Amino acid sequence: MAEKLSAVKGMNDILPAESARWEWLEGLVRETMARFAYRNIRTPIVEHTALFVRGIGEVTDIVEKEMYSFEDKLNGERLTLRPENTASVVRAVTEHSLLYDGGKRLWYIGPMFRHERPQRGRYRQFHQIGAEALGFAGPEVDAELILLATSLWKAIGLTDVRLELNSLGQPAERAAHRVELIKHFEQHADKLDEDGKRRLHSNPLRILDTKNPAMKEVVESAPKLMDFLGEASLAHFNALRAMLDANGISYTINPRLVRGLDYYNLTVFEFVTDRLGSQGTVCAGGRYDDLIAQIGGKAAPAVGWAIGVERVLELLKEQGTDLPNPVPEVYAVVPDAAAMPVVLRTLQQLRAAGVRAQMHASTADGLGSFKSQFKKADASGALFALIFGADELARGEVTVKSLRDGTGAQRTEPLANIDQWLQTLQSAA
Ligand code: ATP
Ligand code: MG
Repeated sequence: MAEKLSAVKGMNDILPAESARWEWLEGLVRETMARFAYRNIRTPIVEHTALFVRGIGEVTDIVEKEMYSFEDKLNGERLTLRPENTASVVRAVTEHSLLYDGGKRLWYIGPMFRHERPQRGRYRQFHQIGAEALGFAGPEVDAELILLATSLWKAIGLTDVRLELNSLGQPAERAAHRVELIKHFEQHADKLDEDGKRRLHSNPLRILDTKNPAMKEVVESAPKLMDFLGEASLAHFNALRAMLDANGISYTINPRLVRGLDYYNLTVFEFVTDRLGSQGTVCAGGRYDDLIAQIGGKAAPAVGWAIGVERVLELLKEQGTDLPNPVPEVYAVVPDAAAMPVVLRTLQQLRAAGVRAQMHASTADGLGSFKSQFKKADASGALFALIFGADELARGEVTVKSLRDGTGAQRTEPLANIDQWLQTLQSAA
């Protein structure tokens, strides 16, 4: 036998029992997005490396060490598997001038790629659902996006998350804060870890985002960006807070919330849980008013968020939420292969009428005994077995046997008039 191949480390197969949950989630996401009038966008998985270097920022975890970048052997282009989708959406919106007639509300879902140490809630291929509102400057869109996320939590029954909020102000305000921040960290340089020392002059704000508990104290005593915000930034922040308050959305203000990506300004937020260890952020976002210009588009404000799908599904499991695993409504038991033409035709009629129907099929050992077919019918989870026995068929009928109500009741129904008994199959579901 040839050597077995396995999937790439940190990249997972999503098998049917699991993908049923994904499909369920995706259905609710689509519905919720439609209710908020967000339109779907699908961008390529591969982009020019330069897009992410420019868009995400050179001194970020992602660009420094997490990107899957390679050279296209055929033309020498530097390409990268997208580590996130905001830069791509901005690229697409700019490339196709989508903002020419006003702001756009967009959403996406798909795989992202980051070379990280795989662990629960952290993978090398993972999936994000994202929402972006481009071309809108006011705090009401920040609020709308947060309400969109909370509506989604409600739709899927997620309860164990809380909202953390902060404002990063504007670049000039951050620059003033940065000076004081560097002073503070220089005074306590002995308490910085290697990452911290390296970031001290390149990106000191990101030190606040450290996951190293040994740096807790030096981070907590650092000057707060909030104290450097000017009138307009504070007004934006307070207006957002008033809209959240009016909607009964509770939140805490977390001055250390600075986000891993460089492009944010004003509002930043995360939905976090304590139930997934250090992978506790299930949704993260904020305003990125400078990104569009940075990527080469005509300057326009924007705000968005991204949800980690694996983490959300993991959290639902933690919560003990029952998630669907769709089963067929009927399973066709076929005692004799001679019945197959009629079986296939009947199942097609049932499917066309909206019934989920699975047929018994032969293995290398043939169709198998009546008894083993029944076992399979039962294991399929179907509500009814349709038995295409020779006697019934000779009379133009099929036996419908109930598999789930404990009675095992059965009756025969006419094949020529499916509409007459179709309802009983579905109303039991
Ligand atoms: P973290 O601090 O956990 O590394 P991040 O700040 O890098 O997260 P973002 O780039 O903001 O994450 O991505 C948004 C969301 O995508 C995260 O909150 C998380 O739910 C999810 N996510 C990010 N990286 C991964 C990963 N490697 N595996 C699974 N989910 C991820
Ligand atoms: Mg990360």
